[in-house]
Amino acid sequence: MSCQGSNLNDNSEPKDAVPSVESMNMNEDLPDCKESINEKNIDDPFDLFSDDDTQPKRYQPIKRKLTQAVLLAEDQIVDHPNSETLEKVLPLTMEIADCKRMKLAGRVTYVHSKELLQRVNRLTRIESRADLVHSLVQAYGLLQYVDVIPPRVATEAEILGFHSSDYIEFLKDVSAVSDVEENQEDPHDFYTEAEAYGLSYDCPLQDGIFETASLISGASIVAADTLISGQADIAINWYGGWHHAKRDSASGFCYINDIVLAILKLREKFDKVLYVDIDLHHGDGVEEAFSLTSKVMTVSFHKYATGFFPGSGSVDNVGQRRGQFYTVNIPLQDGIKDAEFCSTFYRIMKVVKEKFSPEAVVLQCGADGLSEDHMASFNLTHVGLAKCVCFVLAWNLPTLLLGGGGYNFASTAKCWTFLTALAARRKLPLEIPEHENLLAYGPDYQMTTTVGNKRDCNSKQYLMNLVAKILKNLEKI
Ligand SMILES: [Zn+2]
Repeated sequence: MSCQGSNLNDNSEPKDAVPSVESMNMNEDLPDCKESINEKNIDDPFDLFSDDDTQPKRYQPIKRKLTQAVLLAEDQIVDHPNSETLEKVLPLTMEIADCKRMKLAGRVTYVHSKELLQRVNRLTRIESRADLVHSLVQAYGLLQYVDVIPPRVATEAEILGFHSSDYIEFLKDVSAVSDVEENQEDPHDFYTEAEAYGLSYDCPLQDGIFETASLISGASIVAADTLISGQADIAINWYGGWHHAKRDSASGFCYINDIVLAILKLREKFDKVLYVDIDLHHGDGVEEAFSLTSKVMTVSFHKYATGFFPGSGSVDNVGQRRGQFYTVNIPLQDGIKDAEFCSTFYRIMKVVKEKFSPEAVVLQCGADGLSEDHMASFNLTHVGLAKCVCFVLAWNLPTLLLGGGGYNFASTAKCWTFLTALAARRKLPLEIPEHENLLAYGPDYQMTTTVGNKRDCNSKQYLMNLVAKILKNLEKI
């Protein structure tokens, strides 16, 4: 793999250089984990291995049965998780679990319905992913620690709060017919118009797509509503996170921008809303929607390289007019690992929080930056992404967690299940519980994602210059 050059790669030391990645104090705003772990008076809600009566007991039999299932499925010897492997995983979990600033008893809502799941399951490029995610969350018993709430369809008025009526009318029309070509007088004209609305290539016309996108959007709005009403401190919609959809067009598998609609809903109560995007791709649709305002700050960490979709997201793109410097872009190169990604994230987000003082946060948790993702770009694990999410959750602001990209479905399911556990402050057993989709997690059947043997194209100098430049921009707020 070759690394592309960048104008931030020059070797000149910036005047206000930030500390090197190694010297960045990653724990500066993080909990003192050791202290927390040793505090006997703190109930550790993550400890599913403890004798605490409040913890679910059914995991032990599941684990035993699971090992048998694995043996049967793979016809090979799979070790029981011994203390050594648990030691390897738990400290990582504990580091996140012991976010002292996170409320111990935060309320979490989780949007789900059978119809929503079935509709999202049918979407191009992510067929059956929703099923994998939800079934793993369920298999780990996490649904008993969250309020499962049903979605509703977003109203036309809500959708038109962002999208143009022309585009939505067209989307509605094409959505109603199963064979588009057969129902058009002039298919050529029709496809020209469809293309103008972005409905081709990455966003093919699918039967019922308007209804599906409206339900996904309603799900994110309902989740936002639970933060507004105070029903929840954290709201989750893993079916949402369609950050590329534009006012006038579909883009990058996204038809209706549920994120923008959820942010508009949150703005009914919260004056300042922060949007954070850790998907591999630039959160262009959301950024564009709020680039002129100082009330919604958008921060996107993404891959930025020639020819890589969507092609936007340069560090120099900072928003316009009143919104100048309220758009933050962190363009990264292939191969970035957890340590560098997290330290860059902490460093920037600490200042974003101080400068912007958000009242609510929307976090798009796209999982396509994982090393195992088919995008084969970043070199992250779910723990790295979870540390970033934990950093934001530790602010104890009303927070909406949304899905996004993620094309290795098993890794995506592990990542979002882990984040659900983090939000609900539960610790997960290492072994994937027995459930209908267990075989998707072979050959190890464990709640782990691994780093690959990839070159990190983000030099220390590049990251230092990048952070320095962004912090300098944030100073202007
Ligand atoms: Zn993506």
